[in-house]
Amino acid sequence: MTTSDYRKMLKQLAPKPPKYQKFIKHNAPKKRSCGINRKRCRRCGTYHGYIGKYGLGLCRRCFREVAIRLGFKKYN
Ligand SMILES: [Zn+2]
Repeated sequence: MTTSDYRKMLKQLAPKPPKYQKFIKHNAPKKRSCGINRKRCRRCGTYHGYIGKYGLGLCRRCFREVAIRLGFKKYN
C-alpha cells in the first residue's frame, strides 16, 4: 500500500505493537534539516506553495480560504 503520508498507516497498526514499531523503524521518513520536504501545510498537508511568514504554516491555497478568518484584509 502506498500513502501520501506514512502516518495514515499507523491507525490500522495501533492494535499490533510489534508490527507498529517495525513499521515506524522502516517507514518513517528521515529527519531533515533543510529542503522543501521539511515544510508542509498544516491544514491540507501539501508541500507546494508553503507560506511560513508570520508563523502561518499554510499553503497558498489554504491561506486564501482562511485569510479573512485570520484577520487579513485585501489591500485593494
Ligand atoms: Zn494547504
